[in-house]
Amino acid sequence: MDKHVLEPFIKKEDIAVKVKELGEKITRDFKGEKVLLVGVLKGAWMFLSDLSKNIDLDVEISFISVSSYVGEKTTTSGVVRLMCDIDRPLEGKNLILVEDIVDTGLTLNYLKKLLSVRKPKSISICTLLDKPSRRVAPINPDYSAFEIPDEFVVGYGLDFNNRYRNLPEIYKLIISEDN
Ligand code: 5GP
Repeated sequence: MDKHVLEPFIKKEDIAVKVKELGEKITRDFKGEKVLLVGVLKGAWMFLSDLSKNIDLDVEISFISVSSYVGEKTTTSGVVRLMCDIDRPLEGKNLILVEDIVDTGLTLNYLKKLLSVRKPKSISICTLLDKPSRRVAPINPDYSAFEIPDEFVVGYGLDFNNRYRNLPEIYKLIISEDN
């Protein structure tokens, strides 16, 4: 069995400050408009929950579910599959895609193409974490809380093999083989 070591990385107080700032910025940028927040499941649920509480606008919330990793890997397979679609019409809406982390950018590139066909008024990307050094697709988040180096992280919604999503802080995951 592999041994997991969780190294503290981003504290909950720091997350709360940044999430509040992002919510206030979105509120300013879309003043007088409605927004549709679309959380990309499963990783973005905790971030979307806290972010939405800091947005002072007329807000609709929906979710979309995609899968890009296979099994227990910590690197993307490069293949994105739609698992569950948005339950709202998008035409004329200010759509904000809320992600846990932008890594290669393949997931958001796929989602942007898929959803732009439905004629939203605008599409923005809001991510908790951004790993620009790993980017393959041309994706630049409009809103990003933290830029991080090429490390595999868990907590605050992010998982490894569906574990650790409930942790209130973000950790680096170090996997070592147990002998
Ligand atoms: P991308 O398509 O940008 O390569 O990957 C996006 C998805 O990969 C994220 O939504 C997330 O599920 C997963 N991912 C990328 N980096 C990490 C990481 O460091 N930790 C975790 N837990 N998931 C990651």
